[in-house]
Amino acid sequence: MVKKISHIGIAVKNLEEGIAFYEKLGLKLEAIEEVPSQMVRVAFLPCGDTRIELLEPTSEDSPVAKFIEKKGEGIQHLAFAVDDLPQALKDIEAQGVRLIDKEPRAGAHQADIAFLHPKSTNGVLIELCKEKH
Ligand code: ZN
Repeated sequence: MVKKISHIGIAVKNLEEGIAFYEKLGLKLEAIEEVPSQMVRVAFLPCGDTRIELLEPTSEDSPVAKFIEKKGEGIQHLAFAVDDLPQALKDIEAQGVRLIDKEPRAGAHQADIAFLHPKSTNGVLIELCKEKH
């Protein structure tokens, strides 16, 4: 069902500082995008077949701001790419996994996304994502 790791979401206080670090590792900034529904600015840095996704909160009410407040900066979520997101959600829920999103919603990078509940995933916030490209 899962094809690969789509991206690793990392919460940062300052996007430009985060980007500067990953550029030191040789990664290249692909794009910066604002996602108003999640109250974040997102930077994408491709790494082979996957991406590092840096997330900077744009509001104190952002889920990413709350994450940083509780746990500090760091890995916030892990995103797996799937071909058929609605079907994947049905199949996973049928196996007793709790979902945060029962229906796909619009995420960054023109992807449809849905989150699984960390209570069902050993504490890892897992996103399933249907990449548009
Ligand atoms: Zn993501």
